[in-house]
Amino acid sequence: MLTGKDGWLVLGEGSNMLFTRDFEGAIILMRIQGVNVMKEDDRCVHLQVGAGENWHDFVRYSLSMGWGGLENLSLIPGSVGAAPVQNIGAYGVEVESFILAVDVYDVVDRSVKTITHFECMFGYRDSVFKRAGRKRFIIMRVWFRLEKNRRPVLDYAPLRDHFLAAGNVEPSLMEVSEAVIGIRRSKLPDPAVIGNAGSFFKNPVIDTVDLERLVNLNPTIPYYPADEGIKVPAGWLIEQCGWKGFREGAIGCHHQQALVLVHFGGGRPGDLLELARRIRDSVTAKFSIHLVPEVNIVGEQL
Ligand SMILES: Cc1cc2nc3c(=O)[nH]c(=O)nc-3n(C[C@H](O)[C@H](O)[C@H](O)COP(=O)(O)OP(=O)(O)OC[C@H]3O[C@@H](n4cnc5c(N)ncnc54)[C@H](O)[C@@H]3O)c2cc1C
Repeated sequence: MLTGKDGWLVLGEGSNMLFTRDFEGAIILMRIQGVNVMKEDDRCVHLQVGAGENWHDFVRYSLSMGWGGLENLSLIPGSVGAAPVQNIGAYGVEVESFILAVDVYDVVDRSVKTITHFECMFGYRDSVFKRAGRKRFIIMRVWFRLEKNRRPVLDYAPLRDHFLAAGNVEPSLMEVSEAVIGIRRSKLPDPAVIGNAGSFFKNPVIDTVDLERLVNLNPTIPYYPADEGIKVPAGWLIEQCGWKGFREGAIGCHHQQALVLVHFGGGRPGDLLELARRIRDSVTAKFSIHLVPEVNIVGEQL
């Protein structure tokens, strides 16, 4: 494969990337298309979907066909192939629940193979594709199992409140998707209008000892149970350090969601990194919690 100093990199739609310098190597733009029904019965459908399909278009198409599961993940920017990489999640649902397997090109073995759900090693914003498979697997297609009689998941409070306020106790999956789209549009900056990569940091996962320490010092701290421990919203921690709505020149912290760093145009990558470091360090100083980036940084790291 043609490569330079940096080797190679697969790019979907670039919505979760931060380039702090030019990439010196081969960039592979994933554009494999197609949504194929491989198996279907009364209860579910198995689909094989090209990694280059747009994620939101696929979600909407699946819902229009009556296949449920992905409604809470509506309007997440990016491609189908990137979805398993960080196990995208939103509003109480993670994509891994619907992924059967992932077809990849293995650059080491020089062969096409299927990685099972188990082998994907999914975790919170994590998978084998971010670890051992990072410089090895090029995702070509993703296998999904979607449900025909799915009940909506309304665990996420703003979503539940939306339907309670509307007096709609049994929303359809399409209505859930519409509500998610509405909530996302009202809270998150559109990357087509103002540069951002979504959540810049992961929500930290802590243990019960740390939680007790934090609750004693900050009785209002929000937290919720996760598979790996207890999750604390990084946005809340950043907000408590006074960063929400902060702007310095071309770079800032979004006024509605402190977890999203924004670029107003004309700034330098170094400025963004500098702000991210200041935010991370202030959270460490105030809460003794170390934030790690969710965004994929190419070049100088945080
Ligand atoms: C406004 C906004 C809101 C967001 N909200 C959410 C959210 O709610 N939940 C969430 O989980 N994420 C969210 N994100 C992050 C982003 O949408 C996801 O990470 C998405 O999956 C990125 O897709 P992409 O095609 O743009 O990937 P890219 O940014 O192009 O790539 C991301 C990573 O995946 C790798 N990659 C991409 N395609 C492949 C492939 N075919 N094979 C191997 N590796 C590949 C890349 O090398 C890179 O490391 C948000 C981003 C934005 C801008």
